[in-house]
Amino acid sequence: MFKLIAFDGDDTLWHNEPLFRDAHIRLREMLENYGDADTVDERLYQAELENLSIYGYGITGFTLSMIETAIELSDKKISAAEIHELAKIGKSMLRAPTRLIDGAETVLRHFASEADCKIILITKGDLIAQQLKIERSGLEKLFAGIEIVSEKDPLTYRNIFGRYGVEPNEAVMIGNSMKSDILPVLECGGAAIHVPYEITWVHEMVGQIEIDNDLFCEAADIAQVPELITSLSKQRAAERMENV
Ligand SMILES: [Mg+2]
Repeated sequence: MFKLIAFDGDDTLWHNEPLFRDAHIRLREMLENYGDADTVDERLYQAELENLSIYGYGITGFTLSMIETAIELSDKKISAAEIHELAKIGKSMLRAPTRLIDGAETVLRHFASEADCKIILITKGDLIAQQLKIERSGLEKLFAGIEIVSEKDPLTYRNIFGRYGVEPNEAVMIGNSMKSDILPVLECGGAAIHVPYEITWVHEMVGQIEIDNDLFCEAADIAQVPELITSLSKQRAAERMENV
């Protein structure tokens, strides 16, 4: 059995991407006189990419990227009232209630009651925004630990697993992003379960990839996670026997 079960938050336990999609649609409307939807999307994504290393992941950087896109694409013709609206959209995103994904709480409660494993949350984004989201989720008490990180790469995972006193091969990560939640965990020797969400931010997309790893599986939805963890732990145990 795994000693550590780690969950991603955004679009794994609670809905997140729809907030960004709605803001994005409003920005397209606002800028329709300056460029078509594709142009707005492309400029916004460029601004987000450039700003990631300065502001990190999350709503604050996204809001500033929307404002920059509006100013640049309109050649500074965008009004102060419209910039104000974009700033207000950002604030309302930060204040939005946390909407849990169906089945997420049941799955967490299932594992929280097991004595021999710990469940933790590993999420990236704005520190304060993520803390508020976790508080509002009502799930905080179910976690043995909450890790808010600026990047999810193999080293991040190795360090976190180490802090909880487990080897990567004793841990499993569950998340919606192949790029952030799955590939880096498999790379450091952990197991991973992909639970796709209906929308994926372009930055988190990876092309079609075949994963040839017995410690990876894809869930139809989060409710399927307990049975998949059982089968992954059998797989892990079989490997250990082979290595004896
Ligand atoms: Mg996510």
